[in-house]
Amino acid sequence: MTNLYAALWRGFPADLGRIAIETADTAPARLYTWRDLDRASSRIANWLDSLALAPRSRIVAQTGKSVEAVMLYLAVLRAGHVHVPLNTAYQAAEMAYFVADAEPAVVVCAPRQLDAMRDLVAKSAGDHGLACPHVVSLGDDITGTLLDSAAPFPDTHRVAAAAADDLAVIVYTSGTTGRSKGAMLSHGNLLSNARTLRSFWDWKPDDVLLHALPIFHVHGLFVALHGALLNGSRIVWFSKFDARDVVAQLRDATVFMGVPTLYVRMLAEPTLDRAACARMRLFISGSAPLLVETFDAWTARTGHVILERYGMSETVMLTSNPCRPERGERRRGTVGPALPEVAVRTVDAATGTPCACDETGSVEVRGPNVFAGYWRMPGKTKDEFTADGWFRTGDVGRLSDDGYLTIVGRSKDLVITGGYNVYPAEVEGFLNEMPGVAESAVIGVPHPDFGEGVVAVIVARPGAKVDGATLIAALKSHIAAFKVPKHVEVVGELPRNAMGKVQKNVLRERHAAAFGPARR
Ligand code: AMP
Repeated sequence: MTNLYAALWRGFPADLGRIAIETADTAPARLYTWRDLDRASSRIANWLDSLALAPRSRIVAQTGKSVEAVMLYLAVLRAGHVHVPLNTAYQAAEMAYFVADAEPAVVVCAPRQLDAMRDLVAKSAGDHGLACPHVVSLGDDITGTLLDSAAPFPDTHRVAAAAADDLAVIVYTSGTTGRSKGAMLSHGNLLSNARTLRSFWDWKPDDVLLHALPIFHVHGLFVALHGALLNGSRIVWFSKFDARDVVAQLRDATVFMGVPTLYVRMLAEPTLDRAACARMRLFISGSAPLLVETFDAWTARTGHVILERYGMSETVMLTSNPCRPERGERRRGTVGPALPEVAVRTVDAATGTPCACDETGSVEVRGPNVFAGYWRMPGKTKDEFTADGWFRTGDVGRLSDDGYLTIVGRSKDLVITGGYNVYPAEVEGFLNEMPGVAESAVIGVPHPDFGEGVVAVIVARPGAKVDGATLIAALKSHIAAFKVPKHVEVVGELPRNAMGKVQKNVLRERHAAAFGPARR
């Protein structure tokens, strides 16, 4: 039996009375023991059992970040159902899509949304001729009808049997183009990756994780949370990221995981220094590219070298820079070699033939962590796997002769101008080094002569004046003329999603008419 909860539970410390999670942004701090996690998730699991749902029913959770939301996740696993976490930013029309697609048996939402959610799911179920799901609420302050419903149930629970390939979680991809797809992750996918990361990142029981990421995404829910639970390590818990408070709490932690934007914001805090990080063992970055400049600035300020890793909703983690020095260096600008058990290759997009070292191509992967497919999208699933079983990540990258992967961008962000391929990350790398440039995003938009024209969207450093013509002239001495942006826009900030990824689709729409009226 491979129920992920049972495996996580085996990692809990022998003394269940020890603190598992303490909240850092409530006054006073809330302390949860390992026993609390086990008992509260038992009650919720028993309540789920009482509903007599079909095995592997979908349980949609659109809740704020709270320890009780973690208990709900653990309960769903132990009851043998499928957790479907959703970003709280989703609005009614988006929720209607997810409810119709996931066909949940239970929907958990914020208390203030309870009535609206009831109406929404009733309508959606009616429209699709389905049974209406149970709708309950969970607040950020230990309130809600979920906890009320679960309270009378026993605090012990027999964990449901689950095979390695039984579905555990559906993670909806951020869906920047077309419909959001539900990536189906099994108990085995999640457990194998958690175990791999445990040994690769050298997790120890006395580690303390500072958790400041959302829990509707792979990074916060699996990489961070599973790591600590599987190791019986205490978690210092932030319901949302606040740079000053997080820097202050680093004194009490040994492991931190963040998206690059979090590192940038922490670097802006004058209190971030070596003393603040004296107890820290490991800083990990992922979910979006870490600028070389951030990597260097972090080392200079804190004495710590950030470990950058790469993964995605469909695969959990794929590559990682080494943790232990004897395994190699943490190489700036790269996401490291493939993790043990994971295979990564780069291939020519047109022919599918493997690329030579340092040649740029499409990144394909396989391993026990790779998902089974997209929920109810067999056609899409088939398209994304090669005939010999490799998953096409949609990322473009290159492998060095010693196996380090560099991500160059998403294939759909590749710009083809006058028949030439331009990899945005390459141009962004040069732009980011130019005086006065804080960060940049390079996109392709319709161009009357070239099909697509290269546009650079720039954020200037505070107080700096950046002139597009000067940047273009300077770039010409570094890169081939076809790669040099034909148009530069200076903006206050780049649009990003909750995980800090620059939303290039938004930029492409905004600047679609840079070379004349946009053509569809
Ligand atoms: P998501 O499914 O939301 O986690 O997004 C996964 C995508 O984020 C990947 O396919 C990459 O394009 C990107 N990504 C994740 N980690 C990194 C990284 N360290 N560097 C560059 N891109 C990354």
